[in-house]
Amino acid sequence: MSRRLLPLLLLLLAALVPWLGLSTYTQRLVNLGLVFSLLAISLNLLLGYAGQISLGHAGFFGIGAYTAALLAEGGSGLLFWPGLLLAGLVTGLAGLAIGLPTLRLRGHYLALATLGFGEIMRLLFFNWREVTRGMDGISGIPAPALPGFAFDTEARLFGLAAVLVALVLLLVRRLDGSKYGRWLAAIRDAELAAGTCGVNVPRLKLGVFMGSAALAGAAGALYAHMMTFISPDTFGFEVTAQVLSMVVVGGIGTVAGPVLGAFLLTFLPEWLRVSNAYYQLIYGAGLALMIVFLPAGLWGLVRSKLRRAAPALLVEPPPLAGLPAEIGAAPADSALLDARGVTRRFGGLVAVDGLDLTVQAGSIHALIGPNGSGKSTFINLASGLYGLSGGSISFAGRPVGGARPWAIAQAGLARSFQNLRLFGSLTVEQNVLVACRAAHPAGLVRVLLASATARAEEAALRAAAAEAMQALGVWPLRDRVVKTLPHEQQRMVEIARALAMRPRLLMLDEPAAGMNPSEADQLVTRIRALRDRGITILLVEHNMPLVMRLADRITVLNFGRKVAEGTPAEIRSNPAVIEAYLGRRHLKQMTADAAAAG
Ligand code: ADP
Ligand code: MG
Repeated sequence: MSRRLLPLLLLLLAALVPWLGLSTYTQRLVNLGLVFSLLAISLNLLLGYAGQISLGHAGFFGIGAYTAALLAEGGSGLLFWPGLLLAGLVTGLAGLAIGLPTLRLRGHYLALATLGFGEIMRLLFFNWREVTRGMDGISGIPAPALPGFAFDTEARLFGLAAVLVALVLLLVRRLDGSKYGRWLAAIRDAELAAGTCGVNVPRLKLGVFMGSAALAGAAGALYAHMMTFISPDTFGFEVTAQVLSMVVVGGIGTVAGPVLGAFLLTFLPEWLRVSNAYYQLIYGAGLALMIVFLPAGLWGLVRSKLRRAAPALLVEPPPLAGLPAEIGAAPADSALLDARGVTRRFGGLVAVDGLDLTVQAGSIHALIGPNGSGKSTFINLASGLYGLSGGSISFAGRPVGGARPWAIAQAGLARSFQNLRLFGSLTVEQNVLVACRAAHPAGLVRVLLASATARAEEAALRAAAAEAMQALGVWPLRDRVVKTLPHEQQRMVEIARALAMRPRLLMLDEPAAGMNPSEADQLVTRIRALRDRGITILLVEHNMPLVMRLADRITVLNFGRKVAEGTPAEIRSNPAVIEAYLGRRHLKQMTADAAAAG
C-alpha cells in the first residue's frame, strides 16, 4: 500500500464511524481519542522529531482550554474558531517563554524544567480563582458552530475533530518530508554537526517548541468546547504521562503512530475494565515490553511490514551536472583563511598557542602534528564550535571569532569531524540534504502548503545532494541508514555532506583514518578533484604519504605551537620536524612512497 493511499483509507474508515451505531459513551471516547491524538502528535513533534523532552504538556493543554473557555463562556459557538486560534497563539507564546530559558538545557534538565512548568500551571488553574474559578471550573462553554450549524452531537463533534486531526496529520507529514523535518532530525541525532551544516539550531528548537505548544493549546480549545466544562484536575501531570505513553506505544518519530497510540490507550482501560485491579500492572508491563521490544512503536511495526511489501523502485542517478566552477571564486593566491596569534586554553592547558596560519585560496594546506598538538582544536575554533581565548581568525576577509557555527558554515566554511558525527538514523541522502541550500529557499508556510516554490526548492536540494554524493562515490548508498554503514563509508558520507554546503573552504579532520591503501588512493583522487573545482582544502591527517602527495603547503604543530611550515619537500628535510615528529624511519618510507606515487 502506498503512502498516498493510507490517509485516504483512514479518512474512509473515519467517515464510517458515525454509522457504526456506537453508544453515546463510546462515541465520546472516540472523540476524546481524537483530542488525545492532537496532544500526542504535538508531543511527538518535540520528542520524536527534535529529540526534546517536555513533561509539561498538560500545562499547554490547559492554557489552551482555559483561553478558549474564557473567550466563549456563555456565548456563541462561533467563538470556537477565534478561540482555537487564540488558544494556539497564547500557548505558542507560553512555549516561547518556556523555550527561551530552556534552550541550553538537554535531557533530564529539560525534563525537570518542563515538569516544573506543568506543576506551576496546574497550581495556577487551581488557585487563580478570579480567572479560572478554581475547583468549580468553567461551565457553559458552547459547542463549536458554523453559521447555521452546531456541532452539538457526538457524531458531529467527531466529524469536526476528525477533520482537524487529518489536517494536522497532513501538515506534519509535509513537515516530516521537508528540509525542516530533516533539520529537526539532524538536531536530534547530532546537534553540533547540525550547526556546522548551517542549521540554525536555537531558532529551530524554539520554533518546534512553540509549534508543539501551540498544537497542544489548540487541542485544549477543542477539548473545552467538546466537553462544555473544564476544571483543573484534567490538566495535571497524569495527562502528560498518558500522552507520553501514547507516543511511545504508537511509535515515536512516526507520523501516524501517535494517533494509533492515542486510540489504543484511550480504549485500553475500557477493554481491560474486567480486570481493573490489574490494569496498572498490565499497563506498566505492556509499556516496558513495548520500549524494549518495539522501540519504533506499533506504527513502526506496521510500517516495516508495508515497506517490505512494496520494495522501493531503483532510481537511475541523475546526470552529473558538476558543481559550478565559481564556487571558490576567491582569486587564487589570496588568503582565504587567516589566523593570527590564535590561542585556546582549556583550564591550565594551552591547546593552541599563538598560532599564525594562512590558507591560500585554491590550495590544499595540510596541518600535521602528533596527537594532542591542537589540530582538531584549531578546526573547532575556525568552525565556531569553540571560542577563541586569544588572537583572531578571519575567513574571506571577515572575522570568524564570536560567530555561531551555522553562520560560519553558511559563509562557506565546511568541515568533517575526526570522530564521525553523522545523523545516524537518517539515510545517506538525508544526511547530505541537511547541508544543501537552495538559491530560493521556501519558508515554513510554503513548505506546509506544498507550494510550487517549495517543490522547486526540494527538487533543487535533491539535485545538489545527488551531485555531492556522486563526487564522493556514495550515490549507490543513498537509501542506506548511515549508522548501518562501515566506518570508511561513513567518512565519505561526512565529506559529501560537507561538500553539499558548496563550501569555499573544506576542513577535513583525519579523513583517511582507518582506510586501507586502496581506499586512501581513492581519497587522494577525490580530494584533488575537489581542489580542481576551486574548493580550498585544509587537511588534518596522520597518513604522511597521503599528505606528501596531496599538500601544496604543510604546517607542523607540536604542543599547540607551529614548529615548521613549507612545501612537502621543505618539511621532509626540515631537521626540527624530523626530530620532533616524523622520525627517520618514517621519513624514508614516506620518501619512497612519494617517489613510487610520482
Ligand atoms: P589533535 O587533534 O592535534 O590530536 P586536539 O586539538 O584534539 O589534538 O587536542 C589538543 C589538546 O587539547 C589535547 O591535550 C586535548 O586533550 C585538549 N582538548 C581538546 N579539546 C578539549 C576540550 N573540549 N576540553 C579540554 N581539553 C581539550
Ligand atoms: Mg584531532
